[in-house]
Amino acid sequence: MSKLYEIEKLEPKGVLTWFKRICAIPHGSGNEKQLCDMLANELAKIGAKIKRFPTGAVYASVKATKGYEKCPMTLLQAHTDMILAQEEGMGLDLNKQAITPFYDTVKKWLKAEGTTLGADNGIAVAMFMEVATNPKIEHGPLELFFTTGEETDPSVCLGQVPKGFFKSKYLINLDSDKEENIFYASGCCVFFTAKHKLTYVPVKPGTKTYNIYITGLTGGHSGLEIHHNHINCIIFLMNILREFSKEHYCNLVSFAAGNAANAIPTYITCDVQLNAKDVKALQDKINQKIADNLIITQNYDKNINCKIKLCQQEKKCIKPIESERLMNLLSVIPDGTFNYLHECNCMYNSSNMGVLKVLDGVVHIECSQRSFIEDDAQSIRSKIITIFKQFGFKDSDIHLKDGCSAWLVREPEKSALIQLWKKNYIKVWGKKPNIVPNPGGLEVAEITKKCPVLQLNSLSAGPRIWAEHTTNESCPIVPIQNVWKVLTLTLKGMKK
Ligand SMILES: [Zn+2]
Repeated sequence: MSKLYEIEKLEPKGVLTWFKRICAIPHGSGNEKQLCDMLANELAKIGAKIKRFPTGAVYASVKATKGYEKCPMTLLQAHTDMILAQEEGMGLDLNKQAITPFYDTVKKWLKAEGTTLGADNGIAVAMFMEVATNPKIEHGPLELFFTTGEETDPSVCLGQVPKGFFKSKYLINLDSDKEENIFYASGCCVFFTAKHKLTYVPVKPGTKTYNIYITGLTGGHSGLEIHHNHINCIIFLMNILREFSKEHYCNLVSFAAGNAANAIPTYITCDVQLNAKDVKALQDKINQKIADNLIITQNYDKNINCKIKLCQQEKKCIKPIESERLMNLLSVIPDGTFNYLHECNCMYNSSNMGVLKVLDGVVHIECSQRSFIEDDAQSIRSKIITIFKQFGFKDSDIHLKDGCSAWLVREPEKSALIQLWKKNYIKVWGKKPNIVPNPGGLEVAEITKKCPVLQLNSLSAGPRIWAEHTTNESCPIVPIQNVWKVLTLTLKGMKK
């Protein structure tokens, strides 16, 4: 591999110059202010009218290129924050230190040196900045909106936007990472946390404390990747323990799994009380189930690994009746994709158990539900909560949280914006795009809720990003070039 650090030498030069400047300013979620200040300053220099929001988000109104004044006003929207991750041993403080992007001349993609790249969504910010500031790019009147905190809680930033704030007729979002698609809809997501105080009793004499540690699972996004049926290790292990405990003594002591309600958990660590003579039987049972799963799925979770080891003897464990109830509950909760959308190879309705942990003697279970239809997500959540209640959880144990709303352009074939983008896509790529819904959540949903006229003419697209949110995040150059061409042709093409 040879690395080119001067990415601004590649086409589109202006866009990649902006992207390099963005990478130079730390901008993890919650730390976007410095980047937003830079964007606002640069936009002010070209005479744009700027409004800042308390989170730091930047709104700018940009005049049309001469001769394009009558084009429909268009809102260009992207998020400024990125997920910070670094490879072990990098030792960077990414809240203070820059991302170092480079171009891999063999793989022909952009990547960062040992960290996430932040092409999600920095490449869109870069494109919109280039549109606004390069006098050679022709466009009608524009509104630019650079949001904050999209990766953590977009409702904070979008909650500060008053109803009817945007004046645009069209909305372009570039936060979808599949270049072959034009998205005309996105899914919603709702959450709940169930918390329940546990009772502890002395461990059964003669039993020993063992730790079961399952790692190496693929995991993934609870909307975009849940239809791959990757193993959910919480449900996987609890199912085995429930079965195992019918014939052997097995009692829960403590456990921890997963990091976020909307991510499929990639590890579980679980302490149990067992009789020493039963350990091998349990290990065999787990190994057998892993082996069977790998055959059926043809190695979806090929790096899965399970180790059981003796640990320091605990004095107390969860009361047996509660331990049994938890194993039952956690193994019967419906999880994964319930309805599958064949046309676009994604989930329609799904649920994900993302987090299981014990804090100060209280069990915390976090789940998220997704659907393209908001009512459906709510009703799946209600059904699952009903099951929790059957297992002794009370109303006061359940805490609901609304995630993102759904977005839907009802008649994409009549949307002038989508049709114009499609025409230019065909011109650039020489093939037809797929016009499909995006199972993930997008900020477009909240924006179009506030400005319903945008529901007629909004779209989400974007260049391909591989392995976003991980240190393998990479962005092939050709889709960047082509999305840039489609974007500029579309803005120019709005002139009647
Ligand atoms: Zn994003």
